[in-house]
Amino acid sequence: MDTCVFCRIVRGELPASVIHEDEHTLAFMNIMAGNPGHALVIVKPHVENIYTLDDALAAAVFRTTTRVAKAVRAAAGCEGVSLFQANEVAGGQTVFHFHIHVLPRLPGDALPGVWPAVAPSRDALDAMAARLRAAL
Ligand SMILES: [Zn+2]
Repeated sequence: MDTCVFCRIVRGELPASVIHEDEHTLAFMNIMAGNPGHALVIVKPHVENIYTLDDALAAAVFRTTTRVAKAVRAAAGCEGVSLFQANEVAGGQTVFHFHIHVLPRLPGDALPGVWPAVAPSRDALDAMAARLRAAL
């Protein structure tokens, strides 16, 4: 992808403050940080989203994410870490190259919480679980 910003970072055409690089993944500082230490972990090949991520890349990106989360926790002065990964516009994805946000969190920070929770009935949970099992 010639114009993909993350592919351009992988190729060295755009600057990045790199944290980690290996055969399959690259981790660097997010230039639009939610909190100091906000990092991104990407797969090196242009994979648009989780639906086209193969098992080897999925394992590699989560291995790197785990390492980066521990580093952020140790070095960014935070008290917690949230991971965020978005797919498609409706999911909040804005850069269409698979990536995971490693977001340092502080008590009372201005970042939003998770989501307003509802408690579906057991029948609704069981029905949805059955639909998802069938889709696996
Ligand atoms: Zn890309």
